[in-house]
Amino acid sequence: MPGAVETLPILTYHSISNEPGPTSIAPEIFRAQMEEIAAAGVDVVSLDEVACWVAGQASFERRTVAITFDDAFSDFAGAAFPVLERLKFPATVFVPTAIVGGAENWIGANDNARKLMDWEEIGALARRGVAFGSHTKSHADLTGLDGAELDEELSASRKELEARLARPAPHFAPPYGRSNEAVRSAIMRHYSLSVGVRLDEARRSSPIGDLPRIEMFYYRDLGQWRAFLDGRGGAYLQIRRAARGVRETLSGMTRQRHY
Ligand SMILES: [Zn+2]
Repeated sequence: MPGAVETLPILTYHSISNEPGPTSIAPEIFRAQMEEIAAAGVDVVSLDEVACWVAGQASFERRTVAITFDDAFSDFAGAAFPVLERLKFPATVFVPTAIVGGAENWIGANDNARKLMDWEEIGALARRGVAFGSHTKSHADLTGLDGAELDEELSASRKELEARLARPAPHFAPPYGRSNEAVRSAIMRHYSLSVGVRLDEARRSSPIGDLPRIEMFYYRDLGQWRAFLDGRGGAYLQIRRAARGVRETLSGMTRQRHY
């Protein structure tokens, strides 16, 4: 008997382009992934709705996902937004506010630096329903900052988003998904919801300051993606998680992940 959903995948994208590397997904793959969501009758909700669900104030009767994009790359406007708009899927884009209008310049950036949207484009998309959250000011690894620097990255980026877009920006994603207990408690002083890169579906028991997400680079194969949407993807997800754990153990750190 179908009941209310107990898990809610929050999808992670970065660039929708043909650039090399794990932070780019080709436009035709992105479009096909989105069309599979529509064809499977899966609902897409905003992060505001995810926050209500985690708090027990909303429930969903059928498979539901949320969609996020880190880094605010320019290709969001041309390659992702038209697909999202056509399918009426809400999405949140996490913006490193001091790099808006520039190009990626952080550790782990592609050699061929991809451009970020400018404030005019971000403002226009916000007026058309796209939600924008903070991804710090400078795309810093927050675990390497002292208290004052950490506070500045968290507070100034939210203030700038809210001043420019004239709407609340209560959601956050730490660059590289990197945080520790001190960082997470600082994040929660400034934001009501934060998403990381722990590979899992969100649950009501998940910490609202470090919700897991599903890296969509692992689901470029549409058969695998269909199985995931049908709720048959548990074994594959476990394999990906284990492979990632091995890589992190080998490298001794997660900085190599280019988020
Ligand atoms: Zn990022």
